[in-house]
Amino acid sequence: TQQPVLVLGCSGTGGVEAAMLNTLTPDDRVMVFDNGRFAKRWALMLSSLGIPCIRIPVTPGLPVTEDIVVESLRRNPGCSAVWVVHCETSTGTVSDIRTVASAVREHSDALMCVDAVSSIGVHELRMDAWALDVVVASSQKGLTSPAGLAVVSLSDRAWMRARSLERNRTMYFDLMAARAAYERNRTPWTPAMLLVIALDTSLGLLIDEGLPQVWERHGRTADIVRNSLLDAGFTLFSASPADALTAVFLPDKLPDIVDRLKIDYGITVARGQDALARSIFRIGHIGPYIVDDVAFVAGACRSLLHST
Ligand SMILES: *Cc1c(COP(=O)(O)O)cnc(C)c1O
Repeated sequence: TQQPVLVLGCSGTGGVEAAMLNTLTPDDRVMVFDNGRFAKRWALMLSSLGIPCIRIPVTPGLPVTEDIVVESLRRNPGCSAVWVVHCETSTGTVSDIRTVASAVREHSDALMCVDAVSSIGVHELRMDAWALDVVVASSQKGLTSPAGLAVVSLSDRAWMRARSLERNRTMYFDLMAARAAYERNRTPWTPAMLLVIALDTSLGLLIDEGLPQVWERHGRTADIVRNSLLDAGFTLFSASPADALTAVFLPDKLPDIVDRLKIDYGITVARGQDALARSIFRIGHIGPYIVDDVAFVAGACRSLLHST
């Protein structure tokens, strides 16, 4: 984007709260496409901020599609914003933000807001070219830095909206103050300096490699994980698997695969969350993994499955 990218001292969740507080009021109605835990978090957040929210349920493991968006906007006209999670980390599902955004643009005046926390630096995401109005990311996932910073960027439309709000509902998260400070190369409050230095360093590494190359690399490692697991007899959970992580059904004959990977191989994978706790596990491959790393993990999964 050519817009200012504001770095806030909080995790990704704080970045979303900042974006919501600066673009929405209790007089608005916001549509959230809920295909997993993070989308649910944003619906809950809107409720806690007193902002009416229309939660559109989408089956976990399925992406948010143009058809769902068009139909939902037709049934619920007059929304001021739409929130979509680019990569839903709870199910390892990526949605086609470019297509979703153009459908939102065509069928409403809503601000198109994207949780890109686990997709930035993994999947292509072009804020200006795809006409996205709000993009929120954070330091600790695809940007491969320590946790603790959120990155937020607003389009001209979103800034216009922010300027038009009558009452400022937050001080720490006042993005107009953050922007004014940004223009003087400062931050409104004490920045988390060590984290900023770390982020600067990891962004330098990503830029040196080249963003298209970084996206391709994640595509390659994800492909190896997916193909090796399928080949070994596992079933993938998502109908639109993200390159950030792979969600896999827990095999009937190996329900304790998460523990076995840890104990037998020293490999940490994640369980499913909430309702999916007993049905899936998730292999993360965001970041500077090489082919050997993911091949080792996939090989360990195969050995465990075939030794039981
Ligand atoms: C990790 C994550 C977040 C943010 O979580 P924080 O713990 O607040 O940084 C938000 N959305 C998605 C999709 C995530 O994966």
